[in-house]
Amino acid sequence: MLEIRTVGDEVLRRKSKPVKVVNGVIRRLLDEMAATMQHESGIGLAAPQVGIAKRVLVADVGDGLIELINPEILFAEGNQVGLEGCLSIPDVVGEVSRAESIRLTGLNRDGHQVWLEASGLLARCLQHEIDHLDGILFTDRAIRIVSEEELQERRKEVVVD
Ligand code: ZN
Repeated sequence: MLEIRTVGDEVLRRKSKPVKVVNGVIRRLLDEMAATMQHESGIGLAAPQVGIAKRVLVADVGDGLIELINPEILFAEGNQVGLEGCLSIPDVVGEVSRAESIRLTGLNRDGHQVWLEASGLLARCLQHEIDHLDGILFTDRAIRIVSEEELQERRKEVVVD
């Protein structure tokens, strides 16, 4: 299992570098990130969260594992507001506005270009992870941070990635 870096660690604020060659090192990173995400019960994980400033992410909102290298959002539309937490910012939940649906491209684990359309929770998750690759945390974007009392009532709505 990889160690999750938490807020205050400078790697979370770095702009991650694109992957030049998708090789065994990257495939192993993807495997270890997916295992770590599952172990931590997250729906997404970006490489800087495990201390690696490379543009690599994994996500799984319950519809299967998504792995993306050098992801790029090509198109975004609509708006959704929801509660987000982050494995790198324990015990903090905020209300964040995101695009409702996105179209993106990136490389898969074989180094081939793939295109993806996402909406709802997956779109929210992927926007959160891509922000990580640019050194942006959800607390930078949050409309507000949710209080302890409100959190007790809305715990089930919170996604952590
Ligand atoms: Zn996060």
